[in-house]
Formats: sequence, C-alpha cells, structure tokens
Amino acid sequence: DRLKTTFLANFSHEIRTPLNAMMGFVNILTSMKTTKEEKAEMVSLIDVNSQRLLRLINDMIDMSRIESNSMEIKYTNVELNGFISAMAPSLTYELEAAGKKNLVMTPVIDKTKHKVYQYIDELRLSQIFNNLISNAIKFTEKGEIKFGYKIARNENRYAITYFVTDTGQGILPDRLDDIFKPFVQYWNEDVPKVQGAGLGLAICKRLAELMKGRIWVESLPGKGSSFLFSFNTPVMIE
Ligand code: ADP
Repeated sequence: DRLKTTFLANFSHEIRTPLNAMMGFVNILTSMKTTKEEKAEMVSLIDVNSQRLLRLINDMIDMSRIESNSMEIKYTNVELNGFISAMAPSLTYELEAAGKKNLVMTPVIDKTKHKVYQYIDELRLSQIFNNLISNAIKFTEKGEIKFGYKIARNENRYAITYFVTDTGQGILPDRLDDIFKPFVQYWNEDVPKVQGAGLGLAICKRLAELMKGRIWVESLPGKGSSFLFSFNTPVMIE
C-alpha cells in the first residue's frame, strides 16, 4: 500500500508536467502568431517532453511486468565487442539532447580478444546500459563516462563484469543501498529536481537478478560513481 501511494504521488506529477507542457505549446502554436524560430523551439520542446513521458510509461510497464513475474528473458549468445561498439553513435545524440557535448564517452572492450560472448538477453542488457548511461549523463557536468566490460579468469572459467563509470557528483555512502529501491531519488538542493521517477536503478537491479546476476555501486562523493553488474551465465571467448 505504501508503494502504491508513493507510486501515485510520484507519477501523477511526473505525467502531468510533460503533458501540460506539450498541451501548452500546442495551444500557442495553433492560436498565436509565432515566428519560425519560436515554432522550431516549441516543436523541439514537445519532442523532448513526449520522449520524457514515453520513458516514464515504459518504466512503469517494465516495473509492473517484473513485479508480476511476466517479464520474459530471451537468452542468446550476445557478442560483446560488437554490442559495446554499436552503442556509441546513439550516445552522441543523447549528449547533445542533454546539452552536455563536452562530456567524453569512452567505450571499453577487451581488444586482445577477437570475439567475446555471454549468454544473456541482448535487449535487457542494452536497457541496463541505457539506464546507467542516462544517469551518468544526468549527474555529471564534466569529465568522462566510460562504459563496457572487463574479463577476469578464475581457474578455467571466465567471468565478465560490465560497468558504467562517471566523473560526476557521486553518491553519499549512506545512500548507496537505498538508490536501488523503487521511487528513491536524491538530488542536490542547489540544482532543480532531476527528471525521472526513481525507477531506473530498481529496474536494472531486477533485470540483473532475472539473468542470474547482480548490480552494485562504488562511489566517492564529488569524484564520481561506478555502477558494476554481472550475470552468472556462460561466457565464450574466441
Ligand atoms: P532517477 O534517475 O529517476 O532519479 P534512478 O533509480 O535511476 O532514478 O536513480 C536513483 C537515484 O540514484 C538518483 O536520484 C540519484 O540520486 C542516484 N544516482 C543514480 N545514478 C547516479 C550517478 N551516476 N551519479 C550520482 N547519483 C546517481
């Protein structure tokens, strides 16, 4: 019940704000004389707000699928060097949209290996990376965001740890466990409330667990954060 109340309180605000903004711009666009530049600006704001709303609704749907045990996991052998390299182009767009073109995005793969496979759900893997990278962009003003994987060899078994590391504001030690719970959000008092409903990390945690894995964080306030995750499923290396 407490979850439901928090859910309704958070979401009614999060859904109403972008909807109101979009309706306001549509009104102005249709009823007043606007210059070409003003029109372009409003259309782009409608675009940003509709994407924000879609993200939120997708998060809600995923969370309820996970909670009702109806999230399907489709395992295949995902080739990781190709997977990580393919993420770079869409991130340039995301940086631009966030107005943070000064941030450096660095994909990290093991170049000594020709092909690296792990038996996981590719769509869910990219969902975890996308959530973590969006957060890294949101909470980092300058520096670098590294994302990728590293391989460790344990006797005759390979283990892969994925990571997203940033040089952003970091997280206070007493918040490190809480942030993986649904609806938990922290932001600095001196900056406006960041967007989102506090579901991103909760979804990442549940997805990692569904694929026999886990997710954890290491962080130094003022220096940055590293989100790490792994899956206990087969790894193959060529
Ligand atoms: P949201 O991003 O919607 O706030 P999340 O579940 O993704 O929700 O994150 C929860 C909280 O964890 C954030 O509000 C923020 O305080 C903290 N957090 C997540 N990622 C980072 C990061 N890369 N750097 C600093 N704080 C972070």
